[in-house]
Amino acid sequence: MKEKLLKILGLEHKSEYVKNFFYTSNMKASIYMSVYISCMEIWMIIRLLSRQLQGIDIRSTDYYISHYFNYAMLLASALAMLIFAVGYIRGRKRSVLFGYVLKWAFILICLSFGIEISASDYGKGEQVFTFLTMELFAACLLTWYPIVGFLIISVSYGIFYLTLDTTLITATGAIGSTDATKINLFIMWAATLFCSFGNYARTASQAEKAEELARINDHLEDIAEHDELTGIHNMRFFRAEAGKMLSEKKKSELTFLFLDIENFKAYNETYGFSQGNELLRRVGEMIEQAFTYSLSARFSDDHFVVLTSNPGAEGTVSLISEKLTGEKSAVQLHLKCGAYKPAENDDDPILACDRARFACNSIKKHFGRLYRVYDEELESAYRLKQYVVNNIDTAVREENLRVFYQPIVSVSDGTVTGIEALARWNDPSHGLLMPKSFIATLEEHRQIHKLDMFMIERVCRDIRHRLDTGSSCPPVSVNLSCLDFELVDIVAFLCSAVDKYSIPHSLIDVEITESSLVGGKEALKAALDRIRGEGFGIWLDDFGNGYSALNVLKEYHFDVLKIDMLFLEGYPENKNTASVLENIISLADKLGMVSLTEGVETAEQYELLRKIGCGLAQGFMISEPMPITGLDEKMLTGGFMTAAK
Ligand code: C2E
Ligand code: MG
Ligand code: MG
Repeated sequence: MKEKLLKILGLEHKSEYVKNFFYTSNMKASIYMSVYISCMEIWMIIRLLSRQLQGIDIRSTDYYISHYFNYAMLLASALAMLIFAVGYIRGRKRSVLFGYVLKWAFILICLSFGIEISASDYGKGEQVFTFLTMELFAACLLTWYPIVGFLIISVSYGIFYLTLDTTLITATGAIGSTDATKINLFIMWAATLFCSFGNYARTASQAEKAEELARINDHLEDIAEHDELTGIHNMRFFRAEAGKMLSEKKKSELTFLFLDIENFKAYNETYGFSQGNELLRRVGEMIEQAFTYSLSARFSDDHFVVLTSNPGAEGTVSLISEKLTGEKSAVQLHLKCGAYKPAENDDDPILACDRARFACNSIKKHFGRLYRVYDEELESAYRLKQYVVNNIDTAVREENLRVFYQPIVSVSDGTVTGIEALARWNDPSHGLLMPKSFIATLEEHRQIHKLDMFMIERVCRDIRHRLDTGSSCPPVSVNLSCLDFELVDIVAFLCSAVDKYSIPHSLIDVEITESSLVGGKEALKAALDRIRGEGFGIWLDDFGNGYSALNVLKEYHFDVLKIDMLFLEGYPENKNTASVLENIISLADKLGMVSLTEGVETAEQYELLRKIGCGLAQGFMISEPMPITGLDEKMLTGGFMTAAK
């Protein structure tokens, strides 16, 4: 109720924005008013002066003095108001308080001028237009809070009425105002009030809408420049500002940094997304605080970028890293940072960030390495990466990709039970490229399906050939990337390739790495079910290389568990190898999976696998991956079996 009353009176709480809106709208209205009044008064002065000089109406000196004084006062106040308001609108610094004082002085002068001139005109039997004009200008053109408008209008009408009623004798000789004048004045008073209130209501609603728009605009600007999650700048802002810095500053003094939180995925898995987001916010804050005079932004996910001229960037990064490592968490977090110093011709901040990122990725699994500067060695690797992305289509088209095969043997008797298909890229200019030079790049650029589809096709063709020529034909396992399932319908492709060459489905197995399966992707699970339904085997590759291996085993069933070669590394020096492997093998047994250990390089390692009951083995000791022809020769001569026995 109280609120409502205050609102009617215009006394409710108003935001700074709304107050400012009223003030500005009054300043604009004052400009129209003061220009009009200045012109009128100049004209009145000139008119009076010419009449005086020409002797048209002979008036008393007092008459001239009082009229010149009134005109001059009004003109002076209008000019002062005009100068102030124009300055304010043009954005000059003006005292708000002085603006209020000036406005009030101007209004009071206008109204008293109107009252005086019209009262005198009324006495002469003329109309009261001057008063009404001033009233409209002062009370209706400007915006007043209703209560203030009511007071100004009522008081000025009251004074005018009293002046007429008590002091003036009309032209007809009657004292005071006539009844008709009283009624007219009352009607005018009410009409002026309505105009004033109406003006207030209109301006108030405009102010509200403008405030809402300004708020939306601020929000949009904020989103345009800031990352919604962390509150620090986003890449759009970074790109624009870094572009300016590259063109304005000495490039040799600048360094692009790319920061990555190692183990963030595990943190997210352990503590959930909201805690993960909280961590990202904290890291964003740490980076902003540590690089105060630099440009920083969130790149994506758990990646941040900084453009700095700080020569001790490495030290600053290590301080952030210490803070991060000091976080109380079951997951050990580490920071990795790549640094790139832009060359003279570097103008694109995104390419510079990409190089810093490349440097950062190069130390990703290197424990204890925090910082790597992008150097010549990385530059040639980076160029190779660009080459791979730009030439995968050509490589597929011109059949520069090759399938190498590596046999898998049964540990107990050394017979070849399967072969793994591994990709090689025989490039005309770079020679034979190994998967580590192109798999991750193709995945990063979402092109991996092109390679994998080529491999499936080629493997099927090779199997057909072997079947047709009567060669021995153990099942072939192909490696698929989890991205294949997103980028194409790889299951349908596999089925069509197998059907095209009329190959029994039991001759193909699919290898999937455990990291692909992290996060319980439903679509992937459905795709694996389809693979199984079609009669292909599903193998879990590189088991133990990630961090949530056991979780993956809970969710899916695999035919073969390929134990990552890192478990065999260091054997026999490492005394734990035997018991760790033994446990994994017994786990595989319990879950109904065949165990396969990768990376068997020595007879001692092979012997260990035999002792602890591992089902299958694969490794350089048995055979390196080789082209199909070499494999056939070895199979015929029983080369693998001799090696394994
Ligand atoms: P992977 O599937 O685990 O394949 C085994 C890798 O270990 C192969 O490396 C193989 O040459 C190597 N290897 C085998 N025995 C030994 C050994 O005794 N000692 C050592 N140090 N290494 C051994 P490669 O051929 O370089 O392949 C690397 C990875 O690239 C593969 O690991 C697989 O994840 C991926 N890959 C290979 N071909 C393809 C493909 O066609 N598609 C996809 N998506 N990934 C592929
Ligand atoms: Mg594999
Ligand atoms: Mg593997």
